[in-house]
Amino acid sequence: MSGLSRRSFFTAAGALSLPQLSHAVQAAASPYRRPKLKITDVRTAYVGAHGPQLHVRVLTDQGVVGQGEATDAATGGAAIIASWRRMLVGQDPLNVEAVWERIRTSGIFAGAQSGQYVTALSGLEIALWDVAGKALGLPVYQLLGGKVREKIRVYCDSANHHPDDPLAKQKLKEIEDMGFTALKIDIDEGAPFRVDWTASNDEIDRMVKEVAFVRETVNKKVDVAVDMHGRYPMTTGKRMAKELEPFKLLWLEEPVPPENIDAMRDIRESTKTPICCGENIFLRHGFREVFEKRAADIIMPDIQKCGGLLEARKIADMAHAYYVPVAPHCVVSPIGYMASCQVCAAIPNFLALEWHWISRLALWKNFVKEGEIIEKGFVTIPDRPGIGVEMNEEAARKSQLPGTQWF
Ligand code: MG
Repeated sequence: MSGLSRRSFFTAAGALSLPQLSHAVQAAASPYRRPKLKITDVRTAYVGAHGPQLHVRVLTDQGVVGQGEATDAATGGAAIIASWRRMLVGQDPLNVEAVWERIRTSGIFAGAQSGQYVTALSGLEIALWDVAGKALGLPVYQLLGGKVREKIRVYCDSANHHPDDPLAKQKLKEIEDMGFTALKIDIDEGAPFRVDWTASNDEIDRMVKEVAFVRETVNKKVDVAVDMHGRYPMTTGKRMAKELEPFKLLWLEEPVPPENIDAMRDIRESTKTPICCGENIFLRHGFREVFEKRAADIIMPDIQKCGGLLEARKIADMAHAYYVPVAPHCVVSPIGYMASCQVCAAIPNFLALEWHWISRLALWKNFVKEGEIIEKGFVTIPDRPGIGVEMNEEAARKSQLPGTQWF
């Protein structure tokens, strides 16, 4: 309380209205303890890896720069973020919630309920947390409630599930040898040109054989998850969930498309196979129905799409009230990945975090200055301020999307 004794402050406060009091508390309490920053600019760049990944930088008048990342639905994100510039420049980046909510509510008529708008907002929000952590000298997990675990369990997305592939067994063993305790395979085939997704008996058999092949090849202690990518109709989704019961999967992911929560619930109620969904659901508002209808055993919000770090924390907390574990979807670079780890460290109901870069190892290992962040199937959460990693610009820029601006 600069310049005011405790007694004189409260004597003065007694004569003030509530807004005046709030302002007085801020003015009296903050100068010594709270950094003062203003946003001066926001910039973007695109990297092509798993898909188009949108990298976001927030610049401040104190020289602190925050880095964030958005994914999948981010193709139009650079233009969307540029349109928010007037709402960002001059703002205090440490008031993450206020900046985020102002932008979200200002876009109610522009699609701010989901899709590219929320995805771009996720990348921006992560950059704001990076600024906040760096300005305060704390890792982001500390600002999200502190950590409940030191190590983040990583599961490996693998394409080595074809019994006829002569290298598949060896590659699955390599994943096991790398220390992963869980992996996931995709059993849908035919995108993007297929329209009719009702599976024939032959296709059902093919999918079951692929799951059996992986289950028999890897150690029983390694969990196996299976993704149907939200393409199939009810009849196929329900049949597959039943057929896969003997394999005791970690989960079956999006056996039907994500839009109809009642359909997801019907499948969940029809089977012992745990049902997982959420990578194509946005914000708390999108997940509310999933919980209320008991439509999923496990949820997998994509933290670079669903609204960002704090929004993911809030979704996880909603899940926790329904005893639902969280296994975030994640396909981004080590920048977004470590940002996701900050949330995974802070939530009690974390299960496993996706990793999708086994076919892009060279880029993965060089993308940030800290090098490889996964060790024996786990990420140890660092105590560095912010999200904890910095882009190796020379390496990252080699995968810049052609025809796009670089920050
Ligand atoms: Mg999926």
